Amino acid sequence: MKNPETEWVTAYIGLGSNLANPALQIKSARTAITQIAGVKELAFSSLYHSPPMGPQDQPDYVNAVMCVAAELPPMDLLRCLQRIENDQGRVRKDQRWGARTLDLDVLIYGDRIIELPDLTVPHPGLAERAFVLYPLYEIAPQLLVPGKGHIADLLDRCPMNGLKRLD
Ligand code: ATP
Ligand code: MG
Ligand code: MG
Repeated sequence: MKNPETEWVTAYIGLGSNLANPALQIKSARTAITQIAGVKELAFSSLYHSPPMGPQDQPDYVNAVMCVAAELPPMDLLRCLQRIENDQGRVRKDQRWGARTLDLDVLIYGDRIIELPDLTVPHPGLAERAFVLYPLYEIAPQLLVPGKGHIADLLDRCPMNGLKRLD
C-alpha cells in the first residue's frame, strides 16, 4: 500500500562505463533505472566521452547524467543502483577508479546533505569532475547543488579535461 508520507524527490544519477560496449551499458542502465519501483525518469543528458580518472592504463569512459523523481529513500536508491551495476557485470577490485562495465553514483538527492558510512550526497567528486558537471548542466542549468553552489559557477571553475559531447 502506498505510504501517504512518502514524497517524490528530484535526484540526479551519474552513469559511467569503459568496458564491454560502454554506450550500450549506459543505455541498458537507463532502462534498468526506469524499472526501479519508485523511480521515474525526468531527463537524460547526451552521452559524453572522457579520459579516465586515476589509473591511465584503461579505456576512455562514456558518461551521462540522469534526472529522476525518486520515492524511495536514498540508501534504498543506492542499493538498487548497486544491484544494476552487479547485474551488468561490475567486478569490484581493490584498485580505486579502475575499469568497470558500469558505475552508478547518486550525485544529488533533493536538497539533502547526507553523510552516512556508505553514502555521501552530494557526491564528493561532483564539483571537480567535468564528466559530471557538463552533463548535469545540460539537463539542469539552473540547479543549486546543496552545499556547493550554482551549477553554472561550479562549471566555470572546472576545465573540460578532454571531455567531449557525443552526438
Ligand atoms: P567515486 O565514488 O569517487 O566516483 P567509484 O564510483 O569508483 O568512485 P565505487 O567503487 O562505485 O566508487 O563505490 C565505492 C563506495 O562508494 C560504495 O561502496 C558506496 O557505498 C560509496 N558511496 C558513497 N557515496 C556514494 C554516492 N553518492 N554514490 C555512490 N556510491 C557512494
Ligand atoms: Mg564514481
Ligand atoms: Mg560508484
